[in-house]
Amino acid sequence: MDCIFCDIINKSASAEVLFENEKVISFLDIRPINYGHTLVITKNHFDNFLLVPDDELSELIRVTKVMSNAIIKGLNSEGFNIVANTGRAAGQSIFHFHFHIIPRFRNDNFSFKPNLKSYDNGSMKEFAEKIKMAL
Ligand code: AMP
Ligand code: ZN
Repeated sequence: MDCIFCDIINKSASAEVLFENEKVISFLDIRPINYGHTLVITKNHFDNFLLVPDDELSELIRVTKVMSNAIIKGLNSEGFNIVANTGRAAGQSIFHFHFHIIPRFRNDNFSFKPNLKSYDNGSMKEFAEKIKMAL
């Protein structure tokens, strides 16, 4: 299977690695939204969020918190976004699951540019019911 992140893990591709342990590795995103934009991935390959077993996800989120603290301290960042794109429709381009940590600064000119919707009469409940029924 061709996966650039697996190549980074097995060192056949280079990356600016920030941290690694037995289960997880973290490195700089090559095309940062802001400088210091960091990725955190499991060493085992899972295509997306839903396929990551709970124990590996738990280690992944623990390390994501450690890296977020380092970004705040090391870069004097004023905040950060943790993003996980899941599926092509959501903008996922590398199908080895990863969290993005995007350092944020006031007036850094980045925005998710949301086009916020409003629920029509009663439709909020309908959406809630559909989700609750699927639980
Ligand atoms: P996504 O679109 O959520 O799948 O994110 C994939 C991310 O991986 C993008 O932000 C890319 O800039 C980043 N990326 C792709 N190739 C590399 C690489 N070789 N080293 C570091 N980051 C990469
Ligand atoms: Zn992979």
